[in-house]
Amino acid sequence: MRRRLTPLASLLCGLGVLSTAVAAGAEALVTTAERTGHRETGSYDEAVRLCRGLASHHPRRVSCEAFGTSAERRRLWSVVVSGRGAFTPERARASGLPVVLVAAGTHAGEIDGKDAGMALIRDLLESPTERPLLEKVVLVFVPVFNVDGHENRGPYRRPNQRGPSEQGARTTARRLNLNRDYVLADAPEMRAMLALLRRWDPVVYADLHTTDGLKFRHDVALSFAPAEQQGDGEVARLASALRDQLVAGLEARGHSPLPFYPRLADRDDPSRGFVLDVDSPRHSESYWAARNRIGLLVETHAWLPYDARVRASRATVEQLLRLVAANAATLRSAVRAADDRTSMLAGASMALEYDTRVAPMPRRFIDVRGYAYERYEEAPVVGGRSVAYFEDRPEVWHVPLHDEVFPVPGSIVTLPKGGYVVPVAWRDVVEPRLKAHGVAHREISGERTLTVDVMRFAADSVSYDEVSFQGRHRRQGDGVWREERVKVPAGSLFVPMAQSAARLVAHLLEPTGPDSLLSWGLFNTIDEVSDHTAGHRELELIRWMHRGDPQIGALYGEELFRQLPAIRAHFERRLATEVGFATDAAAKRLHWLGHLPPQDPELGRYPILRTNETL
Ligand SMILES: [Zn+2]
Repeated sequence: MRRRLTPLASLLCGLGVLSTAVAAGAEALVTTAERTGHRETGSYDEAVRLCRGLASHHPRRVSCEAFGTSAERRRLWSVVVSGRGAFTPERARASGLPVVLVAAGTHAGEIDGKDAGMALIRDLLESPTERPLLEKVVLVFVPVFNVDGHENRGPYRRPNQRGPSEQGARTTARRLNLNRDYVLADAPEMRAMLALLRRWDPVVYADLHTTDGLKFRHDVALSFAPAEQQGDGEVARLASALRDQLVAGLEARGHSPLPFYPRLADRDDPSRGFVLDVDSPRHSESYWAARNRIGLLVETHAWLPYDARVRASRATVEQLLRLVAANAATLRSAVRAADDRTSMLAGASMALEYDTRVAPMPRRFIDVRGYAYERYEEAPVVGGRSVAYFEDRPEVWHVPLHDEVFPVPGSIVTLPKGGYVVPVAWRDVVEPRLKAHGVAHREISGERTLTVDVMRFAADSVSYDEVSFQGRHRRQGDGVWREERVKVPAGSLFVPMAQSAARLVAHLLEPTGPDSLLSWGLFNTIDEVSDHTAGHRELELIRWMHRGDPQIGALYGEELFRQLPAIRAHFERRLATEVGFATDAAAKRLHWLGHLPPQDPELGRYPILRTNETL
């Protein structure tokens, strides 16, 4: 039966925006982007209206659900799409359906994913030939993750991008970059997203973005995680296979995907080629890889007009759904097996950080669809190095791809055989994050004295970033684990390695990892000296030590008193033989004071402990 069209629907059909069938039933589901020829993007209210509209037009196939609240008290929405009405994770699991979670608007100015996803869902539902796809996979679509940033919009927020006319902000209302917050989970939006991920446990999590500047002719870049070596090997192999299939599928449909994020080896010289990025788990795709699932960062090309970006984003999501539907059984059994393997990682070695070798003789060259460009050693007007691209002169760049990923040697750790102990004093810093990630942990019963590993940092190895990042002063340092007997107070927590989140546990609690709670600056008080010995008191103690005064024995014990002649002999040897020692007052002070027991034994001591026991 032919349905009568409203004037607007007829117009949209005439423009080729909508098929006739879609327009008749779903005019209310047309996006502002479509209405305006992709000059503009809709508001948050429109996203909510579309979410609800999809659910009311297709109640048996769509559910519109709030899953959290932003800092400015806006609700976060997800569109759950299932041809079989599997609107809960339990139903999806019971039906054996794979789940794909897609988030758009993480960086709210890069909003193509929202307009792409809403139109794709509507059109799949309206098309009798496409609809069967939705019976094989459950799509959980978050149209706008950073909702407050989405409403904080202006015409100049994305200078490296063509359209829409106004763009949202990159960060949240509290100025947090959500795509650096996956481990720390400081933002309320992130805690909501982690809960959503935990509930749905998608086999693939795709995060939709727009690139940040470089000019070339590929319309979308795909970064899959885990990368080779990173995370579970079998999941990494499947991620690579999915990447290759997605690239082939998009090329077959006339798109031009890059199978990696385009980071230049030298940002002012494309001829030096590209370097493969392997992100730490503060980023979406690597976070989800640390959970033994597949993460995908989708970056449409910023210099394409907005409608072309939306098309590339839409094709990527659609193709991804098809691939996951086609490989559902393989993916499901692979992630289950990866969970089982990860639960047995205790005692194994694991790298917490990866890097890519930029070799002087690259082993691999690729062809990239670029433009002619001019490099400057002295740029016009301002001087200095720079580059200018000529978009009217396409050319192919035959350039190196540095893709030799390696685990950073200093980041390789041996995981404890039992797990980690969080002393009760630090419980309220650590436990909310364990809960946000769904990491298994339990309270240790009563006070216990345990043999554990303790890490202490030499004060001169510790440094802090001068610039705040995500509102934190990040910390670096070299520490060594040593076995000690430690009294663990009642109320302390045990975090076992024997769980499928073991990799994430290591990222959170192994102190030297780039995304550990220590590195993120949550334990900075351990490096703060709060009580000093007065200079005159130091001098008094040194003079007593120098002359062998029995007051040292009374204060610090007979053993130190007996050592005083040897300490003095060593001091005199150093005065006679060590260059510069005689004129270095601080070194001379330290020679004596270094023999006194520490007045602050907790200084530089990481409070979280490792144990080989299961508590
Ligand atoms: Zn982005």
